[in-house]
Amino acid sequence: MQTDKWTYVFDLDGVIYRGKEPQPHAKELISVLKDRGHTVRFYTNNAARTRKSYISKLESMGIPTPVEEIMTSSYATALYFIEKNALGKTVYRIGEQGMADEFEAAGMKVLYDQEEPHAKIDFVTVGIDRQFSYQKLARAQRAILKGAQFIATNEDATFPLEGGTLQPGGGCMVAAVRCATGIEPFVVGKPSTYAYDKILELTDCTPERSVMVGDRLDTDILVGNRAGAKSVLVLTGVTSREQAESAKGDLKPDMIIETLGELI
Ligand SMILES: [Mg+2]
Repeated sequence: MQTDKWTYVFDLDGVIYRGKEPQPHAKELISVLKDRGHTVRFYTNNAARTRKSYISKLESMGIPTPVEEIMTSSYATALYFIEKNALGKTVYRIGEQGMADEFEAAGMKVLYDQEEPHAKIDFVTVGIDRQFSYQKLARAQRAILKGAQFIATNEDATFPLEGGTLQPGGGCMVAAVRCATGIEPFVVGKPSTYAYDKILELTDCTPERSVMVGDRLDTDILVGNRAGAKSVLVLTGVTSREQAESAKGDLKPDMIIETLGELI
């Protein structure tokens, strides 16, 4: 590995785009970094969509992206199953179809709500589920209390819609399962370092040669700092300059930028 090459890890929403709108300089920055020989990865906590579904979105913004460059918390969970030699085992998920697709593509057996009420479940994964119900919670509880491993794809309490309205995030479903079982989940997504470390492993990069660029202090910046990366907060998303400048400890970004143009 050449020592002047870096791995740049970009959060998506609030950084590369906001909703359907590409952010200023995103396309230019990505192409400049790649031309200079740096490695680029995109990493979102969103567990509801497959990696493939991001390809067309990025492409429509002029950012051609092979699937290997995209990390989601669902895909990172699939990598966890692979690491644990668990392929073929049964997973029950509180989550959306994108999560199930990612697990099935890796070789897991996904148990659907209407299937085999008494089947043995090895893992329960929890992420955002806009069809969340008491029945799903009860099934997850039963399986975990019988010994299934409890995994949270991420613990985001909220996510912002365009215009700034907040919606409940996957962390709310995680909290319900934690409450029903009294058991702490293994967390895969930001701010846990599991998925970030996977990115470093897959790109053959050390933490000190990596940069995490994000718009949220309690996920993007925290994971970057915990992982030992450089952390860059861009002000085009959910964090104001005032919030960024008053952040303390592991929430404090190494660098604050107005737009991605400053990284060119
Ligand atoms: Mg974001």
